Amino acid sequence: MSIYIGNTDPATKQKCPICGSKENVIPIHYGLVMDVPKGYGKDFMLGGCVVDFDSPNWYCKKCEKAIPPIPPENSIQKKGMNKGQ
Ligand SMILES: [Zn+2]
Repeated sequence: MSIYIGNTDPATKQKCPICGSKENVIPIHYGLVMDVPKGYGKDFMLGGCVVDFDSPNWYCKKCEKAIPPIPPENSIQKKGMNKGQ
């Protein structure tokens, strides 16, 4: 079974709003899986097979919370250039 990978480009990784760290933040993958894939809970979480426009893409392992996605208006008007690395 294939896993649909959402918008989890490491460049777009979000900071956890609770602990303020990126260290424990892992991507949330969406898709239909038959078996628990290797790395589940450690390298990524599974969000189910239904993806909504406001589905979270990131999850903090430490706080055990999904990080809410950035609202579209914030992602459109970017503050400064954050690319380069
Ligand atoms: Zn956290």
